[in-house]
Amino acid sequence: MPKELIRLANCTMAFDGEVVLNNIELSINDKEFLTLLGPSGCGKTTTLRIIGGFQKPTSGDVFFDGVRINDVPPHRRSVNTVFQKYALFTHLDVFENVAFGLRLQKPALSKSEITSRVLEMLEIVSLKGFERRDSSSLSGGQQQRVAIARALVLRPKVLLLDEPLGALDLRLRKDMQNELKRIQQAMDITFVYVTHDQEEALAMSDSVVVMDGGEILQIGTPEDIYNEPVNAFVADFIGESNIVDGAMLADGVVEIFGRRFACLDRGFAPNEPVDVVIRPEDIDIVPIEDGKLTGTVTNVTFKGVHYDIIVDFRGFKWLIQTTDLSPVGTKIGVKIDPDGIHIMKKSRYSGMFGDYSSYSAEYDDISDADAVPEDVSVPEDTL
Ligand code: ATP
Repeated sequence: MPKELIRLANCTMAFDGEVVLNNIELSINDKEFLTLLGPSGCGKTTTLRIIGGFQKPTSGDVFFDGVRINDVPPHRRSVNTVFQKYALFTHLDVFENVAFGLRLQKPALSKSEITSRVLEMLEIVSLKGFERRDSSSLSGGQQQRVAIARALVLRPKVLLLDEPLGALDLRLRKDMQNELKRIQQAMDITFVYVTHDQEEALAMSDSVVVMDGGEILQIGTPEDIYNEPVNAFVADFIGESNIVDGAMLADGVVEIFGRRFACLDRGFAPNEPVDVVIRPEDIDIVPIEDGKLTGTVTNVTFKGVHYDIIVDFRGFKWLIQTTDLSPVGTKIGVKIDPDGIHIMKKSRYSGMFGDYSSYSAEYDDISDADAVPEDVSVPEDTL
């Protein structure tokens, strides 16, 4: 049974009367890799700063191991932070950068203890042998590892990381994502990570917290968040999604574009209007006569592993990812298995996301100004 380490209870944060965190409830388990994910300004850093003690919530409580810590200053919390703009001491070598906090500890640590803890930490962050390197001579990724070692050598129970890979190029980011996950497991402590990059969140986390406008919209495993988004915002923010209006005719039956589709969702009112998410990889292209819906390909983009194709269904454009090439102008049928359809309650985000019309139009202008006119035939429903 996982043990709760940190809890934010009804935390609200306002600056000059403007609410930027609205009644947040968040529980973080011991040894968990938890990621706060959301667009710029949604309140991720503020949440992290409340956990670190750099910011006091306007109202609400912060608990650490069951003890209320609202009034405990940052240096008395068993928490350390790594920022995107990690400031290494450029006049010190790698060893001394990592040893810095240890040398300030009271009662003073012995020389041999400091040496063994610094070397152990450099080994964990894969910088063994770099002890005497000038810190300014290191690559961006190596510098970030020193910053992480410097924070971890103090043995916090929680490491807070605020967009720590933001300054690195894509390739290095990917390498460091794996490294961070490995380091967290090797240290066996809690990491609370802030990013606006959904791929990064899915790749590293045990739990993902999706935020928008100072609110938590959903908390779950990466699989939960991807497969069962609670609303159109989460569905759109996490990966590509086609999101269309539908109506739940009955348990396990949804109507989209006047057609009935089998789905796995239950518990909605009869005929309840809903948002329907269909991921681009869950749509199968089939011969027209076998398709539940048919549409016309208006755009094709080769992506290496697959093609992104835009298909026009009665003026509504879907993104489909497929390894089979269907050239622009082709009429195709599509089939969607029940587990490829996910039903969401209507929300304030309904109608705002999940339509690829503008995406398609941009490409149409560039690649094929004379795309085939819309032409949709809908075969008889065969549910
Ligand atoms: P980003 O990804 O851009 O860093 P974020 O999700 O981390 O964004 P926060 O930094 O938590 O967002 O900021 C949330 C909101 O609170 C923003 O509108 C920001 O301008 C505001 N804010 C944060 N700190 C302060 C402050 N000290 N004074 C006034 N407003 C603030």
